[in-house]
Amino acid sequence: MSLRQIDRDHLIHPVHSDAEAADAVVFAEGAGAVLRDADGREYLDGLSCLWNVHVGHGRRELAEAAASQMRRLAYATAYAGFTNEPAVRLAEQILRRAYPNMSGVYFTTGGAEANETAFKMARYLWRRRGLPAKTKIISRHHAYHGLTLGAMSATGIPAFHRMFQPLVPGFIHVAPSYPYRYDGSMAEALDEAIRREGADTVAAFIAEPVIGAGGVIPPTADYFSAVREICDRYGVLFIADEIITGFGRTGRWFALEHWGVQPDLVTFAKGVTSAYLPLGGVMVSGAIHQAIQEAAPAERFMHAATYSGHPTCCAVGLANLEIFEREDLVNRARELGRRLRSGLERLRDLPRVGDVRGLGLMAGVELVDDQRTKAPALGLGARVLAEARARGLITRIRIGQSGEYPIGDTVCLAPPLVTTETQIDRMVEILREAITAAA
Ligand code: PMP
Repeated sequence: MSLRQIDRDHLIHPVHSDAEAADAVVFAEGAGAVLRDADGREYLDGLSCLWNVHVGHGRRELAEAAASQMRRLAYATAYAGFTNEPAVRLAEQILRRAYPNMSGVYFTTGGAEANETAFKMARYLWRRRGLPAKTKIISRHHAYHGLTLGAMSATGIPAFHRMFQPLVPGFIHVAPSYPYRYDGSMAEALDEAIRREGADTVAAFIAEPVIGAGGVIPPTADYFSAVREICDRYGVLFIADEIITGFGRTGRWFALEHWGVQPDLVTFAKGVTSAYLPLGGVMVSGAIHQAIQEAAPAERFMHAATYSGHPTCCAVGLANLEIFEREDLVNRARELGRRLRSGLERLRDLPRVGDVRGLGLMAGVELVDDQRTKAPALGLGARVLAEARARGLITRIRIGQSGEYPIGDTVCLAPPLVTTETQIDRMVEILREAITAAA
């Protein structure tokens, strides 16, 4: 029986679709920005798989870092009273590159668990301060924060809620910063929501510095300083979900650096190991760190995860950061991002391209039915993806939506930070051909 048939018989996929499974690409190998399937066909990896293979595919030294750690000690618990060198060193190395106010790191196995941890840390801090009613989490429409119940409830894309309702109580959605379609300052929506809910009930606001899976929506330049000011005014913690934007993706180590803003908590995953092994985490400011460090036994931080501080995952994270330094990948992301963006801007001459946006090596091309009215194109994206794949480019789309926060199908691009200039240009060329053919 073919692998594809056994897959259809037995494997349940993320965002499962039997029709798509029937026609699945069987990935077999990779090198740099190139993926090869089981039949030997090559594809350019337009999204670093899932925005995460920053250093590119096929890095032997990451395999060796994992093997060498596994031979010594593959795993050991990092529960209180136990620790290990890779976890300690990686925490230190991440903090060295993060916002100056960051003080502590808690490791998880991925992004959703990092966001859950951040929500619990926010509740924890307010309880330690005698404010147990501060529990609500405010997030934004179009946001993606993960699949677990809390992270799903913070997610602002209705398609991810539809079959899993109801959401966890106490999650509130506000308008994103979205310069081209709504009027007014979007940060005001946060201010209003806090006042409506009552600041004494709100624990935290969570936002991706650039919305990723929701369609690559960057903020206006003044948005996050306004957010910071509002959060300070009302005593609300600000969680930056840097699961996509962290580790160089936007041309800075962490994306709020672009606007000189420091959050209270930062969640990360993906680029921390370039996906060679699953790892995520939360960085916290001194105040939160201190609350955890100084808790009396009855108020202990009872947040347990078997794989927190996993030695092998952390060893791969350390080797990954060494590659970043040696190859100057953060600056490379900034330069490559400019090239990608200027290539994509030229697609605006296609009648179905309604917007081109992004930051660093993260870009979105929004498809519309009508360039003048910006009426969102719904359904065109899937055809564009198929045409792109047939021409050797793999990427993903944000599926569009009509309604209160409309957005057209949006082609997302976030290639590895090691992609060559020629490969970047080829991605743009393929996208032009794919949009033309699909429209
Ligand atoms: N937050 C953001 C911004 C993400 O893009 C993702 C994953 N695409 C997550 C959270 C969830 O991460 P994971 O799938 O590792 O749980």
